Amino acid sequence: MKIDRYLDKFNKKLGKIEKDRKEELGKAEKINEVDLLVKFDGYKPLKFERLKKHGQIIWDHALDAYEMTPDEFEYYLARYLYETTPEERYDKAKSEWFVHEHTTYGKVGIAHLNIDINHDVVIPISKAYGCTGDKCVPECKYYNRTGMIEDDKVIQEWMEKKTIVDLDQYKEELGEELFDKIIRDDDSYDRERMRQECIDHYCKLLYEKW
Ligand SMILES: [Zn+2]
Repeated sequence: MKIDRYLDKFNKKLGKIEKDRKEELGKAEKINEVDLLVKFDGYKPLKFERLKKHGQIIWDHALDAYEMTPDEFEYYLARYLYETTPEERYDKAKSEWFVHEHTTYGKVGIAHLNIDINHDVVIPISKAYGCTGDKCVPECKYYNRTGMIEDDKVIQEWMEKKTIVDLDQYKEELGEELFDKIIRDDDSYDRERMRQECIDHYCKLLYEKW
């Protein structure tokens, strides 16, 4: 599988990233980073067209959150590992109590978290068992005040949660003609239409919510 081969390569690169981790990024690397981000921006129509084929249209700023190419995955993961310490990752995960496995979120009225209320649907915070913004329950993995989320745990989670789609797969799904148009990046693909479709879709969603 292409992805297996890719991940193999990625793990080797990661060893190097770890080694360089504490060193400052050099100027040359920063310039490469800009080039890389421009390249990633060029992938957006691929994602847009693929998602559309699958019956979804996503707001264009959110396209990267849905799927990543292998080089995007590598870059964003490496950057995340570089920019955060294991302790910071734990603190952040602990602070996001509303997504903890044993959260009280949804069990109590979110606007009344610290007062007892009598409501038909929700129960008072004092009667709900689970993690809150103040404390975690002992069975929560973030129960301890401090802790660490090591690099290998981050890598494992990213690999489980992110959808990686490589360029060959886009080519196969979109057809060579459309794929080439997008990759050539010479205005033969109408990016303005893509943006407009995203905006129309987003506005429609907002209207439906209102
Ligand atoms: Zn918790």
